[in-house]
Amino acid sequence: MEVSPPVETVRVAAPVALILFGSPGSGKGTQSKYIVEWLGIPQISTGDMLRDHIRRGTEIGKSIEARMRAGTLVPDELVNVLVAERVTQPDCSRGFILDGYPRTTAQARQMMRLLGPLGVEEVVIHLIVDYNVIIARMQGRRVCPKCGTLYNSVSRPPKTEGICDLDGEKLVIREDDRPEVVRERLEQYEAQTRPVIDFFREDHHRVFDVDASRERPEAVFGRIQAMLAGMVVLKEVAV
Ligand code: ADP
Repeated sequence: MEVSPPVETVRVAAPVALILFGSPGSGKGTQSKYIVEWLGIPQISTGDMLRDHIRRGTEIGKSIEARMRAGTLVPDELVNVLVAERVTQPDCSRGFILDGYPRTTAQARQMMRLLGPLGVEEVVIHLIVDYNVIIARMQGRRVCPKCGTLYNSVSRPPKTEGICDLDGEKLVIREDDRPEVVRERLEQYEAQTRPVIDFFREDHHRVFDVDASRERPEAVFGRIQAMLAGMVVLKEVAV
């Protein structure tokens, strides 16, 4: 009888870039936070990074404030530099979530030039949401100005209306969630960002399509977990 040698298997995390892709209001930020808790890898939200520059009144912040307020995209070179700096920090060594980047095909090309040499696997999670659902969601959206937690009067209400569950702060409407700005953001998405998903497919990236219109955020997350579990984030290696 042939006896195979004992093989011990361990699970190690491969550096992976989970690219959360979808229109404004598709739930990228909410799903990112679930994934952070699940996998312990950081969320890199270009929107949050840019808002932070505005809050701190940096030169970058001053240069982009008007564009952000109007709901138009900021220049590719600027976000490319911010992301390049962020992904090389030590907490990103096991992988990270890209939330809101890349948003143009030029950004997608730059991302591949950046991540390829770092040996990072790119996996795209495409959150698909019906246009009318998006409009309804964005109207009910509120955010905690202190911890960034997102709420929604329809799908994720706080325990006490208008108050953050976690730190008791008064919730606010994000400046760019005003209706006229929402319209502009959706137009920018159609014109500049939607083509990125076709670019990824043509380039043979792994793209997981997730219907994020109907179910609650927890259920959508459950499906993302099922898609990713054991296949990308955790790799079996023999030692
Ligand atoms: P949402 O995805 O809901 O639109 P974000 O917080 O991701 O919200 O983005 C808010 C704004 O930040 C965008 O409207 C845009 O002005 C700017 N922004 C964020 N990410 C990028 C990016 N990758 N490229 C260009 N502009 C960006």
